[in-house]
Amino acid sequence: MKLRIAHLYPDLLNLYGDIGNITTLTKRCEWRNIEVQTDSIYGNEKISFTDYDLVFLGGGSDREQLLVRDKLMSMKKELTAYVEDGGVLAAVCGGYQLLGSYYKLENETIEGLEILNIQTEIGSTRLISDVVIENEKFGTIVGFENHGGRTYINDHTPLGKVLYGNGNNGTDGFEGVMYKNVIATYLHGSLLPKNPKLSDHIIKLMLEQRGLPTDLSPLDDTIENNAHKYIVDRFLGTKKQ
Ligand code: GLN
Repeated sequence: MKLRIAHLYPDLLNLYGDIGNITTLTKRCEWRNIEVQTDSIYGNEKISFTDYDLVFLGGGSDREQLLVRDKLMSMKKELTAYVEDGGVLAAVCGGYQLLGSYYKLENETIEGLEILNIQTEIGSTRLISDVVIENEKFGTIVGFENHGGRTYINDHTPLGKVLYGNGNNGTDGFEGVMYKNVIATYLHGSLLPKNPKLSDHIIKLMLEQRGLPTDLSPLDDTIENNAHKYIVDRFLGTKKQ
């Protein structure tokens, strides 16, 4: 059994260790004897999304987002069909913004893939912070954000409620989006090493989409859980355990 990950434009969209998310998924699979192959997709390479069990889009600066816009738009139809069909997609920050209708900068607008009904506009300051959010299923999720864009998610389900930090726009108290098998978030860190429950959720979705059994053998997550708890304790103190 081999799971396949398509990592889109790792040369342009890979801020604050986003690639660590792929390392985490790969290791957590390998520790359970599930083989993972990651294909890094560059330039104007065309891929067949149905060959993949996860598509990953990391974060990038506004300039890098402008550079990938045309490449991404050339895949709009195929990537939309993949998501609508239940394909698993994880997107961080710049990648998250590009899933929406647009990202409005001061002097131009980057059109997005319109996979999510979300809109992003640049603000006058950057939202930079450690972040703790709460998700009903996974409990707390920790990460780090650094974005100029403010994202408004309309009727979408957020990934979580902000307990510490800014989240989507610093005002409505929500962070990220969950839509079908898409997990989109502002959280870098990288995100997955310190959030093992979320990592295993993504692996289960990948297995499920492949029609494979989704019962994962437990791993010793002492180190991961300690790293997670350190952030929760540091920023929430005794408010939340
Ligand atoms: N360039 C985008 C912004 O500043 C995304 C940044 C990021 O991916 N960290 O909002």
